[in-house]
Amino acid sequence: MKKETGKKMPEEQDPYEIAQKQLKNALDILDYPDKENVWETLKEPERILEVSLPTHMDDGSIKHFKGFRCQHNTALGPAKGGVRYHWNVTRNEVKSLAMWMTWKNSLAQIPYGGGKGGIIVNPKELSEKEKERLSRNFFREIALIVGVNKDIPAPDVYTDPQTMAWFFDEYAKVKGYPEYGVVTAKPPLIGGSQGRTEATGFGTAVAAREACKKEGIDVKNATVSVQGYGNVAWWAAKFLHDWGAKIVSASDSKGAIYVKNGFDPVELHKWKEEKSANHTVTDWEGEINEKFDPEERAPLFLDVDVVVPAALENQITGKNAHKVKGKIIVEGANGPVTPEADQIIRDKGILDVPDILANAGGVTCSYLEWVQNRMRYYWKKERVMNELEANMVRAFNETYKVYKERDIDMRKAAYVLAVDRVVEAMRLRGKL
Ligand code: NAD
Repeated sequence: MKKETGKKMPEEQDPYEIAQKQLKNALDILDYPDKENVWETLKEPERILEVSLPTHMDDGSIKHFKGFRCQHNTALGPAKGGVRYHWNVTRNEVKSLAMWMTWKNSLAQIPYGGGKGGIIVNPKELSEKEKERLSRNFFREIALIVGVNKDIPAPDVYTDPQTMAWFFDEYAKVKGYPEYGVVTAKPPLIGGSQGRTEATGFGTAVAAREACKKEGIDVKNATVSVQGYGNVAWWAAKFLHDWGAKIVSASDSKGAIYVKNGFDPVELHKWKEEKSANHTVTDWEGEINEKFDPEERAPLFLDVDVVVPAALENQITGKNAHKVKGKIIVEGANGPVTPEADQIIRDKGILDVPDILANAGGVTCSYLEWVQNRMRYYWKKERVMNELEANMVRAFNETYKVYKERDIDMRKAAYVLAVDRVVEAMRLRGKL
């Protein structure tokens, strides 16, 4: 994760209100006789731990940070979800992200509940050593409630495989032995899985390909625009390009580019990472037909077959949804489309593949890592990618079937499936 992800937009709603509204919508459709009871049980997390993190700075002073780990629901298995380092982290944000993880894992049919964590910190202001001390502090404090069978963290905004390596090592000290499956997305040398880096973008590309099939669009001739050019966006663009699609637009915090004849995503990625002084797509040396300011959010409103918002939350809103011209939206980012925009998009006849489906490739690969850790037997990349692809296709088809049968939007279809599985598991376990 780099720089700007997670920046709050002016029109941003409280994410917990959004998460609860989405749950309520699903329960209205499912209409259980004990609906009120189910709502009361699921609307709040099972637990949230708040930890205080006094941390030594390099200059000898001590700074105090606050962190959270939340487990929304564990009916289907141990909690699973990332840890975010960001100055905008709040208790409510962590709670909503944990709830979304419950539904994402349920929809992907991986045997996990939903969890999430975060520290209120600007990691760019810390040295590498300070980040390490803070990470170790945090994991030691939450070791009370995490564990290979309890809650398995992973990276999120501004945390990465190195952070997971520190978490893993600190937990090994607490336990007295290395527990490889306690965190995922570790570096491969210490138990990470092949394919984890590209897993989310690959899953997003698979969701886009399947959506094209259903809408009668040949992916070989499809035009695609991506918002963002970070991990999810560029890998999604790369795989879609490999399958013949024409990628015509990409963006970052400095602005967006439009290339009528399409560009090679690998070339653009190399340029941004290795040659661009400001690490931006906007100064690319290749052919560019038009450039846009970041506030215009141009990739979202181009006349293309597939739009992939893969940067930030709250991007397609009640105020701008009428401008979307794409035939399909595939939500690589978490929460890029607000509830107000959902109805407008549906009325326009656009197929919107929701985040809990479209970006589930990352957590699915994390699950495969956890399985390999527990077996102490590591798979070749091809096997990981095949399992990942099959699971994405299955989840997509199941969701699409409910979307058609119930005549609701894809987000509601995904929620209906995911919430119903959690409720059923709770009933089987005598919790409801
Ligand atoms: P990243 O930090 O690698 O990339 C984010 C990109 O967004 C960067 O290119 C950044 O320049 C761009 N950006 C920032 N502000 C922008 C703006 N105003 N306009 C356009 N672009 C802007 O992050 P990522 O891992 O690719 O994550 C992107 C989204 O996907 C987030 O919502 C994240 O929660 C979600 N997600 C990521 C994963 C994963 O495995 N990486 C898994 C599930 C969901």
